[in-house]
Amino acid sequence: TFNDAIPIDTIRYNEQGLVPAIAQDYLDGTVLMMAWMSRESLQKTLETGEAWYWSRSRGELWHKGATSGHIQKVKAMRYDCDSDALLMTVEQVGDIACHTGERSCFHQIEQQKKAPPADTLSGVFEVICQRRDHRVEGSYTRTLLEGGDNKILKKIGEEAAEVVMACKDDDSSAIASEVADLFYHTLVALAYHHVDIKDVYRKLQDRKR
Ligand code: AMP
Ligand code: ZN
Ligand code: ZN
Ligand code: ZN
Repeated sequence: TFNDAIPIDTIRYNEQGLVPAIAQDYLDGTVLMMAWMSRESLQKTLETGEAWYWSRSRGELWHKGATSGHIQKVKAMRYDCDSDALLMTVEQVGDIACHTGERSCFHQIEQQKKAPPADTLSGVFEVICQRRDHRVEGSYTRTLLEGGDNKILKKIGEEAAEVVMACKDDDSSAIASEVADLFYHTLVALAYHHVDIKDVYRKLQDRKR
C-alpha cells in the first residue's frame, strides 16, 4: 500500500503554484501521462492514495478518473533531485490514462499512434504477438507458433536444461544467454496461449511482501 512520505512543503512549486507530476505504470514502467499538481492536489493524492491533479484548463482540482473511471491508484511516489518534479508509480484502472482512449498520452509519433516502449521483455513480447497475428516470411517465431505446444514446450524444456548446465559451469555469459533463450521461449508460450505478459508481472507484484 501507498504510504510514501513526500514533504509537501519541500516541493518547489512554480510561479503558478504547480509542480509537474509524471505517472508510470507499476507493472511495465510505461510512462502514462504528465499533468500538474498543486500543493492541495499533492496533499489529496497522499491522503487518498489516488492521483489528484490541477486542471489548468478548468482551473480546478481534478480527481483523475472522476468522469472516465480511469482512476490511478498510487503505489509509490518520489521527487527529483531539486524537488521540482514528481514521479508516481500507479495502477492505472482500465489501463487507459489518456482522455483519447490511448493507454499512454505519449502515443504520438509522426503520423502514427504508438505507446512508448516499456521494458525489454514487454517489447520482445509485443513483437512475438505481432508475429502471431500477422504473416511474416522466414520468422523463427512463426515457425514455433505454427508448431504449437509440441514445438514450443520442447524448446522450453531444452532451454531450461541449458540454463541448468550453464549454472553448473558457473559461466556468467552462458547463464545470461540461456536465460534470455528461456525467457524468449516462455514469451512465445504466453503469446500462443493468449496470456498477457502483464498478467505475469501482476503475479510477481502480488507476491511482493
Ligand atoms: P478523467 O479525469 O479521466 O475522468 O477525465 C476528465 C477530463 O480530464 C477529460 O475529459 C479530459 O478533459 C481531462 N483528462 C483526462 N485524462 C487526461 C490526460 N491524461 N491528460 C490531459 N487531460 C486529461
Ligand atoms: Zn528537477
Ligand atoms: Zn492524453
Ligand atoms: Zn539456449
